[in-house]
Amino acid sequence: MATAMPVISTCEVSSCFYNAGKMCHAPAINVGSDHALCDAFMADSKGRHSARKDVGMVGACHIEECKFNDAMTCSASAIVVLGHSGHADCGTYQHR
Ligand code: SF4
Ligand code: SF4
Repeated sequence: MATAMPVISTCEVSSCFYNAGKMCHAPAINVGSDHALCDAFMADSKGRHSARKDVGMVGACHIEECKFNDAMTCSASAIVVLGHSGHADCGTYQHR
């Protein structure tokens, strides 16, 4: 079982408010819905970006079919997030 939340090592979705320099600065994201998307993605209409310095982490993940999922949390040490069709997907997802 994971002892710490996984960090988001990179995020390619530079349009997101929480993204600065391809790093995520949300306190924690949730992954999931009908597929492994980042639920915290928010494109700011004014093009603003978070001034937080802390690197974002994965709080919860609902994608049970991913081999890194353990009781609705992510057991990977880190994930990458990629852009896909106007939203953000977990790029570390691997089908069990
Ligand atoms: S991981 Fe999600 S919240 Fe963080 S910068 Fe990327 S899209 Fe935004
Ligand atoms: S690697 Fe798997 S378990 Fe971890 S956040 Fe991505 S989809 Fe969820």
